[in-house]
Amino acid sequence: MLRGTIGEAAYTGWISLHVAIVRGDGAGRAINQGGTKIFKVNAAHYLRRTCNLPANLGIHAIGRERYNIESAKAVADLILMCIPAKTRGAPLSEGYALALLDFMEEKARKLGLPGGFDASTPFTALKSSYSVFSRFDTNDLHQLCYAALTLVSFGMAVSALMQLTRCKRCFRWAIPGYELCPEHSSSKESGYSLEARRLNYLRGVRVSESPFRSPPRMRKVAGINVRRLPRVIARLLWGTPLPNEERTATLIRNTVRSNPDVWPLLGYDCADLQGGALYDRLNERLDRYEFNPSAWVPKIKFLDKWLRHEALMLPGRRGDGVRKERRIRDATNLAREGFIQADIAMSLGIRPSTISNWIRRGQAPELQRLLAEGRASPGDRKESFVSRIKRVFAQQLSPSLPATRRKEPR
Ligand SMILES: [Zn+2]
Repeated sequence: MLRGTIGEAAYTGWISLHVAIVRGDGAGRAINQGGTKIFKVNAAHYLRRTCNLPANLGIHAIGRERYNIESAKAVADLILMCIPAKTRGAPLSEGYALALLDFMEEKARKLGLPGGFDASTPFTALKSSYSVFSRFDTNDLHQLCYAALTLVSFGMAVSALMQLTRCKRCFRWAIPGYELCPEHSSSKESGYSLEARRLNYLRGVRVSESPFRSPPRMRKVAGINVRRLPRVIARLLWGTPLPNEERTATLIRNTVRSNPDVWPLLGYDCADLQGGALYDRLNERLDRYEFNPSAWVPKIKFLDKWLRHEALMLPGRRGDGVRKERRIRDATNLAREGFIQADIAMSLGIRPSTISNWIRRGQAPELQRLLAEGRASPGDRKESFVSRIKRVFAQQLSPSLPATRRKEPR
């Protein structure tokens, strides 16, 4: 998991930050110079994002008074000088990572960072590292050395983002350093109780070893490449919208809306959540390590497939839950067509009190709304289901109504 030396992590941290500002945050504008693409950088924007670090190190700009990759490398060399040579050349170890985490947590606390230093996922660690970094006055040598250490932490978070691997059982990201995601892992890191972890693990094995297989293209869509990374980092750190941000969010909401099997897990209001709340919900309930907005649409589709498959593979409580969701969905559709509760119950072969129970438990808010609307405006109500059946059968001169009436005759 941990690779390279401490100095290399600091270097990765600084260069990733530089590239995120120039390419991801719009501080740089690509221009064509003699056939090669170079980035023209807005110095004020760049210095604001780097908290004046290059200027404080005496690097004002290199080449046509612009902050470019050459000046960034010069800054990196000076940052490395702030870390003692012995530390700089030492390999990143678990022990160093833990000591660094302690240091970051202490600094975050002292600086009064809201929420402290959050290392629960690579992207929260990245965000927290930058928050700590941006609070130091790099004009002060002492604080400059601290800032260099936060860049080590930043670099480690970037490496962890790039090294995320897919869960061996499903479509989620695995817990960093493990083979399985929190939903299937039996490790403590998953955050579930021992009993839940045991069941989750067995469920993952059972479902993933059935004939169901996730198509290989998931890997491609969900992955993050070097080209996309600067934009993703800029979005995380400064909220810079991605070029297709709005479209992506709409697509995610539509995907949730059209896959009702995912509603119980993601929440019935998920398709109506806006902006950050939508992504928070998906992180919380679907995949806590996902940070790439465009990966959600395929993940939701996979979740839908997975849940349906799980219901088939694992009959019992979970299967019952899925069957109930189906019925609620069918009932909601009938209510949308204007049918009243009694007719819906009859059509689905259930008791009207079952529908009342769903509503009382808050399991069918949409159905509740539609039924209440129907009561408020009985004039618009469609012809009763029973009277419709009677009429149809009367037309066909059928001698009597059939004993079981589960489906509406066409
Ligand atoms: Zn999994």
